[in-house]
Amino acid sequence: MPVKKLPLLVANWKMNLSVKESVVLSKNLCEAYIKNKFQERLSLVLCPTFPALSGVAEVIKKKNVSLGAQDVFWKTQGPYTGEVSPRVLVEIGVEYVIIGHSERRQFLKETDAMIQQKLLASLSEGLKPILCVGETFAERQSGQKDLVIARQVSSALNGVVLTPESHLIIAYEPVWVIGSGQAVEPREASETALVIYQTMLDFFSPKALKSQVSIIYGGSVDPTNIHYFVGQGLLSGVLVGGASLEDKRFINLMNKL
Ligand code: PEP
Repeated sequence: MPVKKLPLLVANWKMNLSVKESVVLSKNLCEAYIKNKFQERLSLVLCPTFPALSGVAEVIKKKNVSLGAQDVFWKTQGPYTGEVSPRVLVEIGVEYVIIGHSERRQFLKETDAMIQQKLLASLSEGLKPILCVGETFAERQSGQKDLVIARQVSSALNGVVLTPESHLIIAYEPVWVIGSGQAVEPREASETALVIYQTMLDFFSPKALKSQVSIIYGGSVDPTNIHYFVGQGLLSGVLVGGASLEDKRFINLMNKL
């Protein structure tokens, strides 16, 4: 399947909205998406909370909008109380899955090894993983940024083999700017995208990277700065948290692409 060349816009609603609010927001966004012909300019992925996935799946059906989950487990079936199988996500229409978000690394103590297992399981079920990597402020201040990014990417990709159908997205999300209202300098995001690309060259051919892998940026993206992060160097999309929670603001953001 040819890879979509349009900029990728991923809305991560985290645990901020109820099921009802997720459904209403997705309806409003779909309406604007169709009315403004946004599908000609961007690929939209909505990532609601787990219990809202089916409701949002219903709303976006046949509207050229994709569904994403915010997490997944690394086994497809079995005695894993409270976990969600990648196979079940596919069953309800999920196409993308966020893996290794810094909030999960921080609050749920997700390790590089767990993230690698989630990535493998998701790819083998045909999901498109959105692997989040990023340094903390302390790591940046101590000059560790590139090392941290390279380590996170390499450990997640350990053992990953892309089939011709696989798609993989790496989201560079500096932990210290998430939710801060202040994105990183676009140049810094581009330079880090290059570190990610170079690290991936140890795993995939340049041809596979070009057609099956995308690098996107996340961290305080809003309507005023989105244009700095899309189509700049190796960056081909954005992951948006706070600015995706309110319809008018997010539609404004889509308008800027
Ligand atoms: C995120 O948490 O993935 C994110 C990008 O959040 P925000 O846009 O609010 O910084």
